[in-house]
Amino acid sequence: MGDPSDVPDRSDLVAALTPEARPAAVLRLLQLGHQRFLAGQSLHPHSTRERMESVVEGQHPLAAVLGCADSRVPVELLFDGGFGDLFVVRNAGTMSTTAAIASLEYAVGHLDVPLIVVLGHEGCGAVSAALHPELVLTPSLAQVVGQLRMELLQFGDQLSLEESCRRHTLSAAGNLVHSSVLLTDRLRANQLTVVAGYYDLHRCSIEWMGEVEPIQYRGALGKVG
Ligand SMILES: [Zn+2]
Repeated sequence: MGDPSDVPDRSDLVAALTPEARPAAVLRLLQLGHQRFLAGQSLHPHSTRERMESVVEGQHPLAAVLGCADSRVPVELLFDGGFGDLFVVRNAGTMSTTAAIASLEYAVGHLDVPLIVVLGHEGCGAVSAALHPELVLTPSLAQVVGQLRMELLQFGDQLSLEESCRRHTLSAAGNLVHSSVLLTDRLRANQLTVVAGYYDLHRCSIEWMGEVEPIQYRGALGKVG
């Protein structure tokens, strides 16, 4: 067991870096936290009432995460973080909805978060539902699942559930960035990284799938097609 008091307030360390150096440094901190979790050496930092009281007046999270509402994907536990460490947006299916995009724009634009992790996972129920059009769903669920189904159809109709979950994770990360001028601008300025991760339920581990490249704006006279 580690001593949670050994973990410094990492936001201070990151704040001392240049804006361009922060995304990689924060990703490294998250990866180290995940390695502690995998090794059974989680420190459970920043989990006390005292820590909570220290962040009452303001939050300075290290990173933001867009993940699934699935109970098997508890983000703070996977990255060994606590109160004030992560700005987490979760919904069924890890969807880049307007509400999710707005939340993450707030994290980047107002809280200066330099890293967004889009965390999909194995065995996602929403993705599974998208592969079964015969399911009877409520109107709200049908809207989400229908959107997922349309997204996955571009890859053909023979994808396995696992491959669908992986493709959707990458699509969600791309859709997030390409729906937001603010996120695209920060990416182009090298002050933000948006990285996709795939959480394997069997191994309990996160596989890093790569970073989103910002879309290149075309000039008014840019060639189309
Ligand atoms: Zn899910």
